Amino acid sequence: MGERSTFQYCTWCFAEIPLDAKVCPDCGTNLDDYARHTPYPDRLIHALHHPLSETRMGAIIALGKQADPHTIGALTDCALEHDGDVIEGLEILHSLSEMPAGHPLLKAGLERLAEQHPAHAVRSRAQNRLQTLFPGEQSPAQQGQEASAPKTSA
Ligand SMILES: [Zn+2]
Repeated sequence: MGERSTFQYCTWCFAEIPLDAKVCPDCGTNLDDYARHTPYPDRLIHALHHPLSETRMGAIIALGKQADPHTIGALTDCALEHDGDVIEGLEILHSLSEMPAGHPLLKAGLERLAEQHPAHAVRSRAQNRLQTLFPGEQSPAQQGQEASAPKTSA
């Protein structure tokens, strides 16, 4: 037999634990109970913190299919937490595009990515989505001096 992986990740604390472990030696989580009693969306959101990017990607794609706007904050956090991974950032933007258009949480999430993500590809796509979904709404920084009250010429 070749070298196979000899451990699994705890689904709760992500410690490396023996393949046959039923209870995590690190945090005491019963793995079967966790899978059975934790709602699927909650498990997906938790998996956004998984150390393996392929596991995070699976959760990102699944959350996009669920299209629950209340997961937008967690997805945005994930993009900024793993901000060296451009592919992951773009996949998160793709999942955000499945969310209900016009939702205020979507606007907030896209604004954070457009302003804070270090990858230009992610920032510019987030900016494009903002302009498409929320036309005519400018961030305060973009509003010029027009906002000041008109002077009355005496
Ligand atoms: Zn654990």
